[in-house]
Order: sequence, then C-alpha cells, then structure tokens
Amino acid sequence: MTPMDTIEITRVGPAVVPASGDRRRHPAPAHLTFFHGPMDCGKSTLALQVDHNQSRQGRHGLLVTQGDRSEAPQISSRVGLSREAVEIDAGTDLRLLVRDRWADGHRVDYLIVDEAQFLTAAQVDQLAELVDESHVDVYAFGLTTDFRTRLFPGTQRLLEIADDIQRVQVEVLCWCGLPGLLNARVVDGAMVSSGETVVVADTAPADLPGEDVVGSPAVRYQVLCRRHYVRRELGPTAAGPGQLALP
Ligand SMILES: [Zn+2]
Repeated sequence: MTPMDTIEITRVGPAVVPASGDRRRHPAPAHLTFFHGPMDCGKSTLALQVDHNQSRQGRHGLLVTQGDRSEAPQISSRVGLSREAVEIDAGTDLRLLVRDRWADGHRVDYLIVDEAQFLTAAQVDQLAELVDESHVDVYAFGLTTDFRTRLFPGTQRLLEIADDIQRVQVEVLCWCGLPGLLNARVVDGAMVSSGETVVVADTAPADLPGEDVVGSPAVRYQVLCRRHYVRRELGPTAAGPGQLALP
C-alpha cells in the first residue's frame, strides 16, 4: 500500500474500485459466500481456516464479529484458534468500515464475518455492495435457525442474495446419533419454543470466560435432529458432549 493508494481510496465513491494493484492483476469478480449450520458445527474454525488460506496468498483480510463483549474482540474456535476481530453491531455500516480502513492505508481484500446471523438485512446488502462495487470477497459464517427453527434475519438475507451458499458439514450429533440440525433452547431442563428471538449470549460458547446467562433461569442450548426437536425429546443425558451448558 503506497500513500498514493490511500489518497485515491479516500476519494473513491461507492461505485469505484479501489486502487489496488492486486485487484488489477486479478480482475475476477469477487464473491459473497455464506457458510451456515447449527451451533457447534465448526463455523468459527472454518472462518479462521479461510482467513489463514487467504492470508497465505498474500491477501489482507478484515475480521468482524458480533456479541463478543470482551475488551479485545476476536473470532475464536473451540479448537483453540483465535484471531483479532472488529466488533460490530446493528448500526455499523460495513461499507464505511472497509472504506475507513482503506483511508487509513490498510488493504482489505476480503472480509470474514462471524456470527452473521445477527446482521440486519441492510448490512447484508452492504456486503453485497462491497462485493459488486469494490470487489472485496466476503465470507460470512452464521447459524441457520434460531431455537424456534426460524431463520435468523441475517441468515435469511444471506440465503436470498449470496453467490455461494454452503451448509457446514455437521460435526455435532443429536443424542440419537443423527446429524443435529436444530438448536433447542432449554430452560430449567425443559425445551421452550417461544421467547426472545435473538439473545446475543445465547450462541456464545459457554466455555469462554465472562459468558453469563441472561436472566436467572438455567438456560442452555442443545442441538437436536428434527425428529427429536419436534418431539421435544432431549435424550437420556441432558448435556452430552458437544452441547452447550450455560451454568
Ligand atoms: Zn435425534
């Protein structure tokens, strides 16, 4: 990145490709790719893997996440990997976020968006604009459905407009051994199917420090197959391996 790049980038309007030599050598169109799945299916690990693979090619990424209330936001996975990330919220304009980076002299060739289910529809449209107008590759990772089996808002919009959609290979199984696809909310040992759609703490890994349950009842999440979700059967052991237990 030369100072010249910075100057040009500062001037660009929404529809102008940033002055990046890398981009000129690779005129291939950018893509909006969405990876989705249930809790604990390895989405964050995959996000970090994609980042690793991209950065090895000399590309520069910006990682964003939501719901990380620590002082140093990061994308972290259960296998111990983590990477610094920028915390965003529903009011963040993702186009401005990237353009501010450019204005500061940083390259942003791709964007990794974790917890993408929490994006607003407008933010997903902003991602599409970054892809189409600024040729930034976007890799978004998110939960498919909430505990009522309804699509999260960000997930719905991503399914509507993403270029590539991939269901993450399921690593988490229902207690019966079938692939777990649905997230059940369990309050005081009983499955519930009504309540707040989005509680940020809900999907945060329970083993991260500083994660506390919202409210006093014992709330946890359990991944079930569709059959056992419908039957509301939590299985012989309430919290088996791979299940979230929020103390
Ligand atoms: Zn099952």
